[in-house]
Amino acid sequence: MELTHHSRVAVIGGGPAGSLTAYFMLDLANRLGIHLNVDIFDAAQFTVPGPKGCNHCGGIISETLVQMLSMEGINLPPEVVQRGIDSYALHTDQGSASIRTPLAEMRIAALYRGSGPLDRIKKGTDDSGDETVAYRSFDGFLQSLAVEKGARVINTKVTSVTRTGSLPVVAAKDMEDRSYDLVVGAVGVNGAGLKIFDPSAIAFKPPKTTKAVVTEIYLGRQELAKHFGNTMHVVLARIPRVSFAAIIPKGEYVTVVMLGKELDRDTITTFLSHPTVRARFPDWIDLGARSCYCRPDVSLGMASPVCADRVVLVGDAAVSRLYKDGNGAAYKTAKALATAAVIHGVSRDSFERYYVPTCRKLDVDNTIGKSVFLTVDLFKWLPMLSRGMLGMVRGEQTPQAGGRMAMSMVLWDTFTGSNSYRSILRRCLNPMFLARLTMESLRSLRARPAAGEGEAR
Ligand SMILES: Cc1cc2nc3c(=O)[nH]c(=O)nc-3n(C[C@H](O)[C@H](O)[C@H](O)COP(=O)(O)OP(=O)(O)OC[C@H]3O[C@@H](n4cnc5c(N)ncnc54)[C@H](O)[C@@H]3O)c2cc1C
Repeated sequence: MELTHHSRVAVIGGGPAGSLTAYFMLDLANRLGIHLNVDIFDAAQFTVPGPKGCNHCGGIISETLVQMLSMEGINLPPEVVQRGIDSYALHTDQGSASIRTPLAEMRIAALYRGSGPLDRIKKGTDDSGDETVAYRSFDGFLQSLAVEKGARVINTKVTSVTRTGSLPVVAAKDMEDRSYDLVVGAVGVNGAGLKIFDPSAIAFKPPKTTKAVVTEIYLGRQELAKHFGNTMHVVLARIPRVSFAAIIPKGEYVTVVMLGKELDRDTITTFLSHPTVRARFPDWIDLGARSCYCRPDVSLGMASPVCADRVVLVGDAAVSRLYKDGNGAAYKTAKALATAAVIHGVSRDSFERYYVPTCRKLDVDNTIGKSVFLTVDLFKWLPMLSRGMLGMVRGEQTPQAGGRMAMSMVLWDTFTGSNSYRSILRRCLNPMFLARLTMESLRSLRARPAAGEGEAR
């Protein structure tokens, strides 16, 4: 069961996982002299602002992914990158601390998955009087790369995938049913998702999910630069229903992403009114006036199974990374899948052998990630530990620290997705690390911080 000259591949979903799978498959097949016909199905309109062209996300691209893409010859254009983030501020009930990018060359990219927030055309030229910021979609950019390699985009929604004989058959609106040699499910976890697959094509359990909330707030370019600069803010305070939240500056807006339980519009109001959060924004701003709002699903696990003969899942639909770097997982699974399909064939056995291990590795790391986030939660409820953590970070961020960055690196990697949870846990269990945390925590008992100490802007 192999892909040969003129084999037909359907990629359902043109988000990062779908477009990168098409891109890598075509790239590899072209180099081997195999001509593949690859169709990408997606109804999203990535040039339209707001939900129609957006795959609902914080839009943080970890430096690891920026580097991996660059090694593939994929450099994110300036109109896609809305801001290069070089530091983040951690806010807890016990105070705040700033963490600069731990290694000088590390920079994360903040971008929009679609073409910017819903009201961005209405806002027009921003308060700086300069030209409006360009908002080019990350997903649209990746899709254009796949098209350059030879993929064809079919701008419609797939309604079902069934099987006739051994071949999967794709049905979509306004199109005759088509059979394919391989169908790739890159449908993510939002919308109808995996329900389009008839059990005759693939019978599976989708990944578990939870709800998140994303909203955009308009500041204008100058005010954004003044109040946020290139700093992302992570809030680990005791706010009802919010586990943690991030505020990410981009173009003329900040994106607010919240994770927690039973989140809704009221939770955003509670969050934005919290004194620590309110202090980040200019006084004049009406935090009730939001430019975009969504409540998407976040993947928490792995589909089971991930593959059948000639049908396979990729990206969020298969497995993601817990609470971070989902685009990195989309890249990793897309690359592994493309290599497995083009080199080793499209049978279930072949996928199990050459593709599924990549998914399992991410899934195992997510299990470790759950314990990392449980610990992070514990810090919120134990003020002594929280102050110890802040004390360590503040010490590390001084010139006298001599490059000692253990806690800064752990926190940076936890919230930016630059490293595996396994690596984070290993570093946290280092006896020296634990000894320093204990010392700092005990010291904080004796010396309570003065009001305003460690305030990070
Ligand atoms: C609130 C939130 C914040 C996040 N923040 C970040 C972050 O800051 N950084 C990061 O790296 N990751 C983040 N993620 C995760 C990231 O968004 C996902 O991991 C990533 O989008 C997965 O890409 P994908 O291509 O697998 O799926 P998606 O991006 O969901 O793309 C799926 C595509 O399939 C299409 N589709 C679905 N069904 C059909 C159908 N029947 N027919 C045709 N097309 C279909 C959809 O239109 C969509 O374009 C976040 C996720 C959430 C929910």
